[in-house]
Amino acid sequence: MLEKNSAGQNIESYCTKCKLNLDHTIMAMEGETIAKVRCKTCGGVHKFRNPADTQKVRKPRAKKGAGSDATAAIIWEAGLAEAKGKERDYSMASKYRVGDVVNHHTFGKGIVLKLYANKCDMLFKDKERLMASANEYKRMQH
Ligand SMILES: [Zn+2]
Repeated sequence: MLEKNSAGQNIESYCTKCKLNLDHTIMAMEGETIAKVRCKTCGGVHKFRNPADTQKVRKPRAKKGAGSDATAAIIWEAGLAEAKGKERDYSMASKYRVGDVVNHHTFGKGIVLKLYANKCDMLFKDKERLMASANEYKRMQH
């Protein structure tokens, strides 16, 4: 005997409130079609949504959290690959040149981007930081 869906039976449906595929109870049938279901988790009554269908719809929106952090990491990786300067441990008593690679004990590897008086911009994997250095750069005032 074929099992037919009927009111009162359990069925897995996508819940529009819980945003999950959950166990539901069939509330009403329209011929062979499930018309309404009730979510066992939140108790909400809504149209039956086939879990297989909703998965297909939701897939293309997988890109999430690709924010500025990921971008910084990409620039950092490219910068490291192109950096031609010396690689050495970071020290605020050192002088740097643009393109130098530094090893920082906390931030990891960084690339020197810009020089200022007694400081320089270094790009680390997570973000850019202004770091102290022994650089003597053009003073803006007398
Ligand atoms: Zn629910």
